[in-house]
Amino acid sequence: MINASLKQLSQALAARQISSVELSTLFLDRIERLNPTLNAFVTVDREKSLLMARAADARIAAGTAGPLTGIPIAQKDIFCAEGWTTTCGSKMLANFVSPYDATVIHKMHAEAGLVSLGKTNMDEFAMGSSNETSFFGPVRNPWDSSRVPGGSSGGSAAAVAARLAPAATGTDTGGSIRQPAALCNLTGLKPTYGVVSRYGMIAFASSLDQAGPMAASAEDCALLLNTMVGFDERDSTSLDRPVEDYTAGLDKPLNGLRIGLPKEFFGEGCDAEVMAAVRAAIAEYEKLGATTVEVSLPNSHLSVPAYYVIAPAEASSNLSRFDGARYGYRAPDYANLEQMYEKTRAQGFGAEVKRRIMIGAYVLSHGYYDAYYLQAQRIRRLIADDFVAAFKQCDVIMGPTSPSTAFKLGEKAADPVQMYLSDIYTIAVNLAGLPGMSVPCGFVGGLPVGLQLIGNYFAEGQLLNVAHRYQQATDWHQRRAVIA
Ligand code: GLN
Repeated sequence: MINASLKQLSQALAARQISSVELSTLFLDRIERLNPTLNAFVTVDREKSLLMARAADARIAAGTAGPLTGIPIAQKDIFCAEGWTTTCGSKMLANFVSPYDATVIHKMHAEAGLVSLGKTNMDEFAMGSSNETSFFGPVRNPWDSSRVPGGSSGGSAAAVAARLAPAATGTDTGGSIRQPAALCNLTGLKPTYGVVSRYGMIAFASSLDQAGPMAASAEDCALLLNTMVGFDERDSTSLDRPVEDYTAGLDKPLNGLRIGLPKEFFGEGCDAEVMAAVRAAIAEYEKLGATTVEVSLPNSHLSVPAYYVIAPAEASSNLSRFDGARYGYRAPDYANLEQMYEKTRAQGFGAEVKRRIMIGAYVLSHGYYDAYYLQAQRIRRLIADDFVAAFKQCDVIMGPTSPSTAFKLGEKAADPVQMYLSDIYTIAVNLAGLPGMSVPCGFVGGLPVGLQLIGNYFAEGQLLNVAHRYQQATDWHQRRAVIA
């Protein structure tokens, strides 16, 4: 059961081979045993989880269950969940108990009947690529506990890789689903911007933030994505479009699929062995009937600099709400209101968050707005246009997800620019608002490598199909980390 797919779990629950309470208990026991080493969860509440499991069992007994009712899942601690501590990896929210459910949480828990196993650790306010900026300490990679799991959804990634949960949610503003998926041998999908509601998901950079599934396979991701999508009037950028069944097209053959290989993704900057694994995966696709064509994303080298203007600008605005006045942390001692704000924010935010707020405030300030923020927005448009041009020549784009395998804890923590470069292949996708996936495609020195798939707008179904066919032909995604 610990290693079963969501489909197998669904069948086992429907056939009454196991109850949701029993299944959830298996995972809760495993969390109790292994989480002290991995630090993947920041909040576990057995009573709450079992309450949900009992409700799921009642639905199964009453014949009102959906396909995922009763299946336990881990939720990234960026999603507000009613009655659950929701910290976003920050001291600022360390004691914040959400009074409401994010739309994603409501859909997954109340509607689909999934059972929450708890909230997973993450980089503070989702700012990071290693999980080291979390107020609750770093997460360890189940493949090698001296290494990072990636970030910011590193707790979700480690939880699923160590099978502390069958699947998890993540969010991806600049790579935070795809990069930890790559570093932990998971399949992860960032949907097209606007497909999944951002309501109740603590905002980092609102024009980029998007939630998605992290799981062991494309099929599991498709099942989860089905429960997450849909128009939400409470998110002004939510898209009102027909809801799809993402499992419907998984088996389509790949004959004639045109794979675009951006020359900028296959040049310098990527570890040679990672690149070899990516190329081997593309050769496998050719065996499956796909053809390749070289494409170009000429502005992609500007994606990291543009992102590190736009994302901090939006973050500096979004994070202004954490002022100690309404909720969250408040400094214990202060002489007046201004000092209360100052001390609260000085004590409540970590170094990386402060760095982003300062960069953001700077690039938005009078005299610098045109030079930085406006310029970055123009580059963002050019990057999106590059993809439009590339998709005239191909159906999907492929390349590495991350330039290296999981790095050592502490290796990049002191050098923000080195850390930011972890996302050189993922960020352009967020700037363009496109869907992207990471799929396990091999190992280097015992550490997983991810293949990135990028689709055109609303091509989630196609990406999942392309990933699923590969997973039918290969078994990289089935390899499991061995944990003591
Ligand atoms: N690593 C990137 C950052 O630090 C992306 C994070 C994310 O996608 N949330 O901003």
